[in-house]
Amino acid sequence: MAIRTRFAPSPTGFLHIGGLRTALFSWLYARRHSGVFVLRVEDTDLERSTPEAVQQILDGLEWAGLVQDEGPFFQTKRFDRYKDVIEELLAGGKAYRCYCSKEELEKMRAEQIARGEKPRYDGLWRERTDSLPGVASVVRFKNPLAGEVVVDDVVHGRVVFQNSELDDLIIARSDGTPTYNFCVVVDDMDMQITHVIRGDDHLNNTPRQLNMLLALGQRPPVYAHLPMILGPDGAKLSKRHGAVSVLQYRDEGFLPEAILNYLVRLGWSHGDQEFFSIEEMIRLFDIADVNKSASAFNLEKLTWLNQQHMMRAPAARLVPVLRWHLEREGIQAADESQLEQVVVSQRERAKTVREMALNSVFFFRAPVAYDEKAVRKHVTAEVLGPLAEASNRLSQLAEWSAPAIHAFISGFAAEKGISLGKLAQPIRLAVCGGTVSPPIDATLAILGKTEALSRLTRALAVWSA
Ligand code: GLU
Repeated sequence: MAIRTRFAPSPTGFLHIGGLRTALFSWLYARRHSGVFVLRVEDTDLERSTPEAVQQILDGLEWAGLVQDEGPFFQTKRFDRYKDVIEELLAGGKAYRCYCSKEELEKMRAEQIARGEKPRYDGLWRERTDSLPGVASVVRFKNPLAGEVVVDDVVHGRVVFQNSELDDLIIARSDGTPTYNFCVVVDDMDMQITHVIRGDDHLNNTPRQLNMLLALGQRPPVYAHLPMILGPDGAKLSKRHGAVSVLQYRDEGFLPEAILNYLVRLGWSHGDQEFFSIEEMIRLFDIADVNKSASAFNLEKLTWLNQQHMMRAPAARLVPVLRWHLEREGIQAADESQLEQVVVSQRERAKTVREMALNSVFFFRAPVAYDEKAVRKHVTAEVLGPLAEASNRLSQLAEWSAPAIHAFISGFAAEKGISLGKLAQPIRLAVCGGTVSPPIDATLAILGKTEALSRLTRALAVWSA
């Protein structure tokens, strides 16, 4: 049977790092087994779901490359189907209408509490066949009264629930709308999900869902409930731990493959290997190897992995990402090969692509001012003459490449009896405005002859005035 997994986010907030990990594990499992990864948007909570959150989740998944094979399916578009299944359960005697009023339910609850019992629906309408005309009813699922429900969870092992602990769940509200756990069941059935991989905050829903699936004549899927991701302080990862929206990591210059690499290691390992390419994750990941203890989010480690991925990626992989970050700085950089050279010369100095972009702005935007302190230090009266001459002779250089520029500058410095640094720093200041750039030969080569010389000429004019 083909493996079918799903990711079923509720669009009540942004896609956060925990949700992305759930999506990743479902996606990896499907990919590894040449299965199908389904995306289902659980948007039945009309008050809390927003179209912005839906868009944000879709964008986050797309950015991360966790693209679904089927869907997105929206639960709000499937209400007719849920209604049909409710009718089917009613007709089969597996569900019933309950006409209890709010007051009756409250009374029931108060009496149970007074008797020291756990409050639960007592099954008042379970066996009744009459109805109360004019009174709106809810529909309840007839949960088995006795016996146990065993969840053989891939991560948590055997978890046993007593049916006596589960009361008859409302599956349709009095206005006819289906409830959450019921929609999940119908969807998992219709979408033929073979492996339900989700956060372990849903483990307690599983016995109810299992009972409903069985009542519908289904073979239950395999369940794998993933441990939570905690913040560094040990509490469940949340907004107050800083950046938690997946798109925020994109904006901060993280590579999706680095984030996925980081996430795959939360709860799963392959020996002591830390670096994984996407292909390796697909080849090596197995849901059966996930352990059940929660893991803490560690931004330093994510940053370290990001740097590792930046260093190991083919330069061409980073070009579109760099271009995107430059665009956010208002820079349109079109020249593919120039961008590639920027990547090669800059990547080891940056931990994120955003940092690399910010360090590289000067390649695309001529300095409008020069670091004053550095000018005082490096642009001395003695160096101005040689600088002007160097600029002149650079303009006659036949080949504009880093090795040719290097050969010229070191030869020129030796000829003038000045150190390379004494010459390179003012040149750097002239073309970058500051003192931080890749080696000066590479910097000039990447800028291109015309641009480099025009910047030198302009700086000389400013400094000689
Ligand atoms: N919609 C649920 C959530 O966002 C997931 C439900 C499921 O995976 O079964 O937490």
